[in-house]
Amino acid sequence: MSPPGLTQLQVGVAYARARRRRFADRAALQAWQDARLRRVLATAPRRYPYYRGLAPTRLTDLPVIDKATVVERFADLNEHGLTLDACLAAARTAERERDFTASLGGVSIGLSSGTSGRQSVFLTTPRERARWAGEVLAKALPDGLVTGTRVALVLRAGGPLYESVGTRRVSFRFVDLALPVEAQLTALEDFRPTVLAAPPSILRLVAQAKVQGRSTISPGRVLSVAEVLDPHDEREIEAGLGCRVDQIYQATEGFLGISCRLGALHLNEDLVKVERIPLDRTGRRFTPVITDLVRTSQAVLRLRLDDVLLAADDACGCGSPTLVVDEVAGRADDVLWLASAERPGTRGPLFADFVRGAVLGAPGVRDFRVVQTGAATVTVAVTPPAAHDGAASALRATVRRAGLVEPAVERADFTPLGPTEKLRRVRRDPSVPGGPAVGLTDAR
Ligand SMILES: [Zn+2]
Repeated sequence: MSPPGLTQLQVGVAYARARRRRFADRAALQAWQDARLRRVLATAPRRYPYYRGLAPTRLTDLPVIDKATVVERFADLNEHGLTLDACLAAARTAERERDFTASLGGVSIGLSSGTSGRQSVFLTTPRERARWAGEVLAKALPDGLVTGTRVALVLRAGGPLYESVGTRRVSFRFVDLALPVEAQLTALEDFRPTVLAAPPSILRLVAQAKVQGRSTISPGRVLSVAEVLDPHDEREIEAGLGCRVDQIYQATEGFLGISCRLGALHLNEDLVKVERIPLDRTGRRFTPVITDLVRTSQAVLRLRLDDVLLAADDACGCGSPTLVVDEVAGRADDVLWLASAERPGTRGPLFADFVRGAVLGAPGVRDFRVVQTGAATVTVAVTPPAAHDGAASALRATVRRAGLVEPAVERADFTPLGPTEKLRRVRRDPSVPGGPAVGLTDAR
């Protein structure tokens, strides 16, 4: 841990740099990326044993890796030589005690939430975390550090870093997501945030509390973090809190995107190089392959994420040339893969947004979960339960329209989410294989 004064200084420097950074056009952004990429490629073989023996000059000289590789080759993909088992043990102890300060040899260890597969960890040095905080602040507070700004962060972990960088003008309050919801609401009520960052499931509860007169907070900026923001939730939150919901797109692998002042979600291509694996004919829908241009504790070089993004057609009016995504449509395993009716023997995807549109469009459905449990089986849980049959037939009709074979739809009980669980309304069981990925193109 760095002394608080040093941390504050480092955050301040990163903040100032991030605010000054502007790109006239795509070519200027590309030049910025290329300069950093050259350094990343030149140092990778000596930093990380995984790349030893290679002499990459272009990004495509490196293999695309996925999260399974990160888990299997963990010690070879970090520059501190730490093993996954040692890191997991330290992180789990800290998580259990909720003291959020697990570290080994001066490197902080965070537990990744691991929505599927084996759990992993992310490593950061104090300097990397300070820089990260500065970058987030610069992008999250477009008007600067205005006196009286009170930022509330409802998160699983990591909040104390921000509390340590509070100044006279800006204060931070970390609200632990593991607390009972009522305690979270009380903490927010006491703090009266002007900026509220929380997972959409919590924002929704705050909006409901406000509508019911149990909460009086009125933040001027609301940021959805950690979970996919469903358009259905977005409308409910905006109506309840009376302000636009912006998004921070962040994964274990880094700070990947944030909404601009016009509300468009931009990828942080100044920090991360993004290649695309196209998922449809137009390539608008894609899975990102990311290369971190600044962080070195862990190699994030051509790492394929599980997300499905929908690229916007047009450049944003805010002037930033970074790629705008219309939607983070969900994790790749939030796609149902069903037999194709048109091409027997093959399978086709039904994306989460279509599933959601179908089920929420059925009369009376307030909330739902859809899980693909087998190659041709799907369970549907809705609340209230009386709306089940309508939801099931709406889902079947959507499946048919997508040119797919109707699965058997089984009824399941709707169970509300535990406080630290991630909300995923549409899920494919890890035992059910996903679809093929084809080709790989640059972000634009
Ligand atoms: Zn914009």
